[in-house]
Amino acid sequence: MLEIRNLHATVDGKAILKGVDLVVPTGEVHAIMGPNGSGKSTLSYVLAGRDGYEVTEGEILFDGEDIVGLDPSERAAKGIFLAFQYPLEIPGVATMTFLKTALNAQRRQRGEPELSTPDFMRRVKGAADRLNITQDMLRRGLNVGFSGGEKKRNEILQMALLEPKLAVLDETDSGLDIDALRVVSDGVNALRSPDRSMLVITHYQRLLDHIVPDKVHVLSAGRIVRTGGPELALELEAKGYADYQANAA
Ligand code: ADP
Ligand code: MG
Ligand code: MG
Repeated sequence: MLEIRNLHATVDGKAILKGVDLVVPTGEVHAIMGPNGSGKSTLSYVLAGRDGYEVTEGEILFDGEDIVGLDPSERAAKGIFLAFQYPLEIPGVATMTFLKTALNAQRRQRGEPELSTPDFMRRVKGAADRLNITQDMLRRGLNVGFSGGEKKRNEILQMALLEPKLAVLDETDSGLDIDALRVVSDGVNALRSPDRSMLVITHYQRLLDHIVPDKVHVLSAGRIVRTGGPELALELEAKGYADYQANAA
């Protein structure tokens, strides 16, 4: 599914990722943990294809195809979804309109017909009800005036509608409150499926109390330096990142 080989990337000419190797098989949920500044968010931006993040070496294979040269919308059409810490606020665009545009753009790129308005409304309503998202929120400008928890719900709603093959969530340093933590973990757990992979990026172990990953990887100074099972997250919680910070220095 996702196979990252010897990935090197720079931001503003500064080398941040220095040979990341990572395989996330179909159907698995993997966590990436690591000290601040180790490159976790950079890895998520590089996966998204964000401007300014330059891959200088290595490959990102998705279903066997190198996606490094693809732009973000092409990656989305292939079924890659990225959720970020600080979702965009777009005052003039109703959340509902944004969702319809995103879903139909994905369908067009895939050569599928656009959804009729009633079909779309049925899908949104079903998913929104499950996430306790009110009709009022759907009519408001995208994320405008939403609380942290509401933004998270909205992100999970997008993810549920787009049915990605690979979901990447960067929750690092976001200091999720209890409500947001529950929204993210329930949303991720509900979308676990044998044909979907997820990469959960987090500095803190507590998210992984709720989302039990198949594997945990430690990123330090731009490389994966250790891989283990869910118990590795507990070990990091107990011992901190001191061992890995030493490597990073
Ligand atoms: P993490 O998410 O693990 O905390 P980041 O990926 O945010 O780490 O940052 C990794 C390193 O890259 C840090 O040393 C950070 O200062 C540096 N960095 C991030 N963005 C930029 C940028 N735009 N220009 C220069 N350095 C950056
Ligand atoms: Mg950080
Ligand atoms: Mg980060």
